Amino acid sequence: MPEKFDVVIVGAGPAGVSAAITTSKAGLSTLVIERGDFPGTKNMFGGIVFAKPTAQIVPDFWRTAPIERRVIEYQYWLLSGESHVSISHRNQKFAKELNSFTALRARFDRWFAQQAEASGATLITKTTVTGVLKDSRGAVNGVTTDRGEVLANVVIACDGVNSLIAKGAGMHEEWKPQDIALAVKETYSLAKEKIDERFNLRGDEGIAIMIYGGREEEFAGFIYTNKDTISLGIGAIMSDLAKYKTRPQDLLEWIKSHPSIKPLLEGSSLREYSAHLIPEGGFNKIPPLYGDGILVAGDAAMLVNALNWEGTNFAMYSGKFAGQTAIEAKKNGRFDSSQLALYKQYLEESFVLKDLKKFKDVPHYISTHRQYLTLYPEIINTIMYKFFEVDGRPKEDHIREMKKEIYNRRGRIGLLLDAYGLYRRAT
Ligand SMILES: Cc1cc2nc3c(=O)[nH]c(=O)nc-3n(C[C@H](O)[C@H](O)[C@H](O)COP(=O)(O)OP(=O)(O)OC[C@H]3O[C@@H](n4cnc5c(N)ncnc54)[C@H](O)[C@@H]3O)c2cc1C
Repeated sequence: MPEKFDVVIVGAGPAGVSAAITTSKAGLSTLVIERGDFPGTKNMFGGIVFAKPTAQIVPDFWRTAPIERRVIEYQYWLLSGESHVSISHRNQKFAKELNSFTALRARFDRWFAQQAEASGATLITKTTVTGVLKDSRGAVNGVTTDRGEVLANVVIACDGVNSLIAKGAGMHEEWKPQDIALAVKETYSLAKEKIDERFNLRGDEGIAIMIYGGREEEFAGFIYTNKDTISLGIGAIMSDLAKYKTRPQDLLEWIKSHPSIKPLLEGSSLREYSAHLIPEGGFNKIPPLYGDGILVAGDAAMLVNALNWEGTNFAMYSGKFAGQTAIEAKKNGRFDSSQLALYKQYLEESFVLKDLKKFKDVPHYISTHRQYLTLYPEIINTIMYKFFEVDGRPKEDHIREMKKEIYNRRGRIGLLLDAYGLYRRAT
């Protein structure tokens, strides 16, 4: 007879570990099954982890967590051929109040999972869950793994973007290429002093840069500073990669050879290369979140806010809510879908579904209005060039040329429609 737990959690990423800490602290017998040699070994992101959501799961986490740097500055870059325009915000409040921190997943996830074990959860690694078990009524009551079967009152699928478990339980089909981005990342070793000097940082201060524009594909790039490494990456929607016949490697080569970016990597050496999918379908593509005996959290449930570059906080909160739902279910001795519907209620009352709903039309709108990604970055770069150009001509000539750049390339009505369109969907 297979062993039985109150909760079996598939995947030891931010969602799974948050769920495990929540249930094990409440005294529920909790098993986390992770396919990697250790939690984090197979995981990659940009990236930054957000402090307040992390503190909800592990109070005072910063005392022991393997943080790389505290982010004190956020930048948005709009690229054009050989230039960029940036908007940046640096604030010491971010350092004092700890808003977000850069991290490397292999270290962070491993530490995070140790907190679940310390709370009483059992973690088994090097074990792949291959499917769900169902009872005679069709309710999920356990999982099959490459090492045998385990029974559970509730299975929480936290197995990431490709969720075999949610698919196996009939919760959703394969994602569509227009709803998934493929991202590639390289990590470069560089002496801490050089990183500090290049990005104007001190101590454990860090910087996060988000990059758009300059290509036909719907893409986003990023640069994050770690202690003695720099993370550089780029991701594009899968359907665009197919449409433009672009290989992710081509995007990476392009971004790292851009004249605004190349000098930041000078003298560094490549330490690591990785690739991962990101679920970017948004609110309209969220699959069913619960069923009889099963809950789905994090990337497996498409809970990512691609617009704001937030995924780990959605994973942590959804994992926590899934855990709370399992606790309530155990109290009531019921694990059917009407009991587990509480999970959706928790998500609806939090930023998780509120934010995704608020911006639900933005991903599709941007995809179908390419001028935001292609034309506007170019126009803005040209205008800034003309604004700063000193060439012996009167400023009114420059202003005329700036107006011409805007009106000729998009037209007054086009401009108004674009401003209104974005305002309506993003505010
Ligand atoms: C390039 C990139 C940049 C990103 N940048 C950021 C960022 O800066 N900030 C941010 O907040 N978010 C970022 N994200 C998103 C963020 O990483 C994810 O939203 C988050 O990791 C989701 O957590 P999760 O626990 O749901 O899934 P995952 O982190 O994917 O964890 C899933 C776990 O399940 C395990 N698993 C999978 N299948 C099985 C199986 N069958 N059996 C057993 N175990 C299994 C995996 O090994 C893994 O450990 C980024 C993502 C990418 C790809």
